[in-house]
Amino acid sequence: MQKITAVLLSLPLAWITSVLAENHWSYKGDTAPEHWGNLNAQWFFCNQGQYQSPIDIRDPVTGNLPPLNLYLSSPAGSITHNGHTIHITVEEGNSVALDRQHWQLKQFHFHAPSENYINGQRFPLEVHFVHANSKDEGMVVAVMLVAGQANPALEMVLNALPQRQHHSAALPPNVSFASLFPQDKHYYRFSGSLTTPPCTEGIIWLVMKQPVEASQMQLSRITQALRNANSRPLQPLHGRQITE
Ligand SMILES: [Zn+2]
Repeated sequence: MQKITAVLLSLPLAWITSVLAENHWSYKGDTAPEHWGNLNAQWFFCNQGQYQSPIDIRDPVTGNLPPLNLYLSSPAGSITHNGHTIHITVEEGNSVALDRQHWQLKQFHFHAPSENYINGQRFPLEVHFVHANSKDEGMVVAVMLVAGQANPALEMVLNALPQRQHHSAALPPNVSFASLFPQDKHYYRFSGSLTTPPCTEGIIWLVMKQPVEASQMQLSRITQALRNANSRPLQPLHGRQITE
């Protein structure tokens, strides 16, 4: 009985907290990116960090980085528009081998237009595949999308997305995200941060060099589904090296 009471009492509170947290930052107005660092004491990296993302990727040094080793299964998961982005949470079973470790894919989401640039070029859409290792350190694989052939994985995302924000739906069984990764698995590598509050640093960034195609119609649909541009402005390099 006590447990039930506690649950009933905590539900409205949890809901209010999450709504406040969700509304506390945005991409325009008083809670736009230039204000993030002042909105919450724990978000100080957003305006004081030295290794912030996104960046314009230029003048990489050659590091002979091996092609990315992806292990993709058919992830069960769920999809939602969380108020900031279209967000797909996946269960364990997808990983990347990097630095002699396995990094589990936790979630992926979309930014339109792209947050990172490559040689001054911006792309209509960027996907962030967020990974963590056994020590819970973060690694993001970013993929740029350009207009071209229709993309099967993006189609699945568009069709599975609930109409209403904060409502989630299960992904259809046996989906594949392979078509959201380019054939050529070479990438740029650098150190950066989360591109949303709390802007935590120490994140390994791998930006795939080859973009992936999606139809113009799909790019328009996903941009519309995102509702607002959700890209943080470019951040200074502060002497960071980009390797390729
Ligand atoms: Zn992101």
